[in-house]
Amino acid sequence: MPTVITHAVVPLLIGTAAGRRAISPRLLAAGAVAAMLPDADVLAFKFGIAYADAFGHRGATHSIALALALAALAACAWRLLRTTPGRAFVFVGLAALSHPLLDALTDGGLGVALAWPFSADRFFFPWRPVEVSPIGARFFSTRGLDVLASEACWVWLPCALAALAIRAARRTARRPAPARVP
Ligand SMILES: [Zn+2]
Repeated sequence: MPTVITHAVVPLLIGTAAGRRAISPRLLAAGAVAAMLPDADVLAFKFGIAYADAFGHRGATHSIALALALAALAACAWRLLRTTPGRAFVFVGLAALSHPLLDALTDGGLGVALAWPFSADRFFFPWRPVEVSPIGARFFSTRGLDVLASEACWVWLPCALAALAIRAARRTARRPAPARVP
């Protein structure tokens, strides 16, 4: 997995760039939680569930099905999230889905069970540039800093660029149309 902070950074950067009117602070927070939530499955180790099990790490919680379930939950809680049902569904769903997709770009561990419950196969992208974060990694060890540097390059930087592009697009959209010359 990338570190849990990096998973949260994706919706936080993109959602903040979209602005408070598009993504309310509560929806932003829900997106950050949804992006981190799949790694709650590391608790499975405490119950003796093997990594490769469907309910092991990167198993069922890293599926499209779970992202859809979280999206549906968010859509039901749209009033609480101060948004519309559609916006809650899309933002939380994409935030949750970003987690297994990022994991599938890492260079270690097992792949993600994206298609669970239809298939327990584990999936990786063919190109995996992100250095995997060991489970329970200490951020300030040499290995932890290597992982953060890799995530900064392959996740934080592209997200920051996407956020800048979104802000620029918003600024352009807000700019008043030039007055017509008669
Ligand atoms: Zn994960």
